[in-house]
Amino acid sequence: MIAAGIDLGGTKIETQVFDRNWDVVARQRVATPKDYPALVTALAEQIKWAKSHGDMPVGIGAAGLVNPATGLALTANICANGMPLPKDVMAAAGARVTYMNDCRALALSEAIFGAGRGHRVVAGLILGTGVGGGLTIDGKLQPSGRQISGEYGHMSAPAHLVAAHDLPIVTCGCGALGCIETLIAGPGMTRLSQALIGRALSAPEIAEQRHMDAGAAKVWDVWLGLTAELLQTLSRISDPDVVVLGGGLSKIPHVTDELQAKLDQIQFNGFETASVHVAEGGDTSGARGAAFAAWQAQGSDDGAAVTGELK
Ligand SMILES: [Zn+2]
Repeated sequence: MIAAGIDLGGTKIETQVFDRNWDVVARQRVATPKDYPALVTALAEQIKWAKSHGDMPVGIGAAGLVNPATGLALTANICANGMPLPKDVMAAAGARVTYMNDCRALALSEAIFGAGRGHRVVAGLILGTGVGGGLTIDGKLQPSGRQISGEYGHMSAPAHLVAAHDLPIVTCGCGALGCIETLIAGPGMTRLSQALIGRALSAPEIAEQRHMDAGAAKVWDVWLGLTAELLQTLSRISDPDVVVLGGGLSKIPHVTDELQAKLDQIQFNGFETASVHVAEGGDTSGARGAAFAAWQAQGSDDGAAVTGELK
């Protein structure tokens, strides 16, 4: 066994144990506890279960952030907000773990094992109930001393599109005003629909009706434009060879083709664009990425994840 990864989400905790070929040889899934002490205990039990297959590094990919300056979690989906979750889990398990954001874990997994493999610069972009991602260069997540690189959803929506379509500028869950996540995440698509056509269509409804209903088509086109602008911003900063899309909205049929076409329209004249692909790893990517990060971090702290000392 080479490493284990734990995908910690708002509803479930899934642990996967990997062999030297990075194939899953054991997996276990439990419901995410709703109170903090039970969450710490459940994660410690998962770590112990993983290590019962052999002594190996363990990574946790979790929704939300941990502030490296304080060790405290910032999360809306897990009952650990404001708590020192990595430290408490390591103390309960008696083991060192690598703790990272789940979007970064997915980006790393796709860069190594999925749609980005073989490319030097790979961006992952998760479009779900929120928007986040990560950037890998030569198979490693970019160092991020404050752990905030990859919070792509919390950049401002492009002003020219907001103005052209008179889009709402609302307060984001992060506290800032006008984050692009408020318009392009799943709930954001519904917000767009309400603003543009006066009907609060859900993301699946918009996706299904976009070739049949003029209103849905309009919402979809504005969503594509906003999301392509985000991809273009990523390209201006990091120039990825490949952008890998994950999350619920990435499963909309042909979304990568349509985003690619939109991105091509706004690229500098004559220049190629990053190629846009959908994640290949599905539900296993988060745990696999966390396991791979833990394996990479053995004996080092490369700044891409919070790797705790056992106290
Ligand atoms: Zn925000």
